[in-house]
Amino acid sequence: MKTLAARYSTYDVPQKAMEAGIYPYFRPISSEQDTEVFINGKKVLMFGSNCYLGLATHPKVKEAARQAVEQYGTSCSGSRFLNGTLDIHVELEEKLARLVGKEEAICYSTGFQANLGTIASLGGREDYLLLDAQNHASIIEGSRLSFSKVLKFAHNDMDSLESKLKICKPESIKLIVVDGVFSMEGDIAKLPDIVSLAKKYNASIMIDDAHSLGVLGKQGRGTASHFNLTEDVDLVMGTFSKSFASLGGFVAGDKEVINFLKHNARSLIFSASMTPASVASVSAAIDIMLTEPERIENLWKLTNYARKAFQDAGINTGKSETPIIPLYVRDNMKVLRIARNLLDEGIFVNPVIPPAVPKEDSLIRFSLMATHTFEQLDFAIDKIVKTFKTHEVFAVKVK
Ligand code: PMP
Repeated sequence: MKTLAARYSTYDVPQKAMEAGIYPYFRPISSEQDTEVFINGKKVLMFGSNCYLGLATHPKVKEAARQAVEQYGTSCSGSRFLNGTLDIHVELEEKLARLVGKEEAICYSTGFQANLGTIASLGGREDYLLLDAQNHASIIEGSRLSFSKVLKFAHNDMDSLESKLKICKPESIKLIVVDGVFSMEGDIAKLPDIVSLAKKYNASIMIDDAHSLGVLGKQGRGTASHFNLTEDVDLVMGTFSKSFASLGGFVAGDKEVINFLKHNARSLIFSASMTPASVASVSAAIDIMLTEPERIENLWKLTNYARKAFQDAGINTGKSETPIIPLYVRDNMKVLRIARNLLDEGIFVNPVIPPAVPKEDSLIRFSLMATHTFEQLDFAIDKIVKTFKTHEVFAVKVK
């Protein structure tokens, strides 16, 4: 056997899960990312998507992508830095900066790359990155590439954050980076407290709004808008793979910082730019979000209804306040079995086990789209509650 293959021939965790019939990953979906999808020729209800506004299937978004392909082709064949900037990239950046209330924005090809390139390039050896322990993996990866000292504070724990700020040198850059909405737990960063601490210790704030745009704030403008603290946040990062029904990411902030990132962030400079279709679909999705506020209203009605129903049934939904509703199981094998059973019952949810969460926090991640119907929701809640009961999760009550 070749060396590499020999080394990894003993890695068989996925194969064991497949043999047990509970392997949940890489399931091919053969339809659009809608409230119903087709898997293996069977229709299942989708409660595991990040398409919060239901725009990935919107006729205007699709038409925008088609027109962009007609006008600009399928690829930019290079990075933004050299041959890969289109006029529509620049227009989108202006729109994004206005959306989140910042001077300028720069788009990366994914949200992961936006965090990676931004966090890795801001700050030197004498500076600090202060990260919430539950931050997204892309923030962690960025911090691993950074020369700055990395200090992690306990999840949403302001005493812990302050204890870390206290040990930083006063004259250094201290960049606090947090998810606005935490991607697995669905809780919201305590931005007002973070802002107070940042002022006290002269720190800067970067907020990852991957799950906040289209969900929180005035017209879906994100976490800072939600708390009316736009001026106090230095950098807003977002992704296009969720509410904005596309692929890509951005960072917005003061023009001086964006100028630096444009010429130094390696995941931007050395990677091809967003495709024309991706750019055009984000732009169309933002326009729809701003002109059809009923989508966000509906998303919240569904969210509040679902959270209450799960809680009434005795399922622990943690500290979730958003359309991401964690249903805590706290047992990895049970999580995988529940996800499998639910798929057989026609419901797609995401099983979340380490490393995405600590092992004692494994959960079923249930997420909503503005386009779900209450009928679909009732059907899913009923099946989920019954399945939790069958698997003896907590004090689940079944009527
Ligand atoms: N940040 C957060 C909080 C995320 O949840 C994600 C995607 N799961 C990303 C960043 C990365 O975004 P993208 O999918 O655009 O790479």
